Amino acid sequence: MTLLTALEAPPERSYDDLPRLMSLMTGDEKHSAAATSTLDVLWVLYDRVLRVGPGSADDPARDRFYLSKGHGPMAYYAVLTAKGFIPEAWLPRWASYDSPLGHHPDRVLVPGVEISSGSLGHGFPLAVGTALGLRAQGLTSRVVVLVGDAELDEGSNHEAVELAGALGLDNLTVVVVDNGSSTHNRPGAIAGRFVHEGWHAAVVDGRDHTALERALTARIEGRPTVVVAEVEEKWA
Ligand SMILES: [Mg+2]
Repeated sequence: MTLLTALEAPPERSYDDLPRLMSLMTGDEKHSAAATSTLDVLWVLYDRVLRVGPGSADDPARDRFYLSKGHGPMAYYAVLTAKGFIPEAWLPRWASYDSPLGHHPDRVLVPGVEISSGSLGHGFPLAVGTALGLRAQGLTSRVVVLVGDAELDEGSNHEAVELAGALGLDNLTVVVVDNGSSTHNRPGAIAGRFVHEGWHAAVVDGRDHTALERALTARIEGRPTVVVAEVEEKWA
């Protein structure tokens, strides 16, 4: 029993292992900016913030993470591998015909993935519904949803900003990874849109793990939180 446990336990991995895990996945050149802009946010969430792991992936009281920006999942798969949700052996064949790891994450096929995503504008409204459901059940779990700056161009997100603010969903955190890729957003204006609807907002360096941890663990009574994580401009 002891031997089996030792063999089955995934090896401990650190942030420094992520580039190697990412390099095992090839062929996503189209979305490499989407994949790498989220890497530090994802790592800090799973390493320091979220109360969830491979052993609690079905626990009703777990924290939920929704990757709404599902069209660039390489960093997500690398972090899930580093944290033991999925085996490293899955990575080299990602996006092949019978691989569970698609170009868009599938909640049915990939352990630890909470929503199937990739079509922009879906994850944030789903997170609002989940936060409301958790509150109705009296659970203290949090919901964190990651969206892209360009994804906020989708109208469904604005409805979600309004509703979560009106309901005071303080168990909800939205992370906007801002790489200046939006068509319609004015530079520097993202946080203000949320504050106007009653949210708590923080704007941080999306590569600074200490700043990200501080912002992502904040919970302000009666207000949802948005963290704008600024990273390198996509077109720079
Ligand atoms: Mg973007």
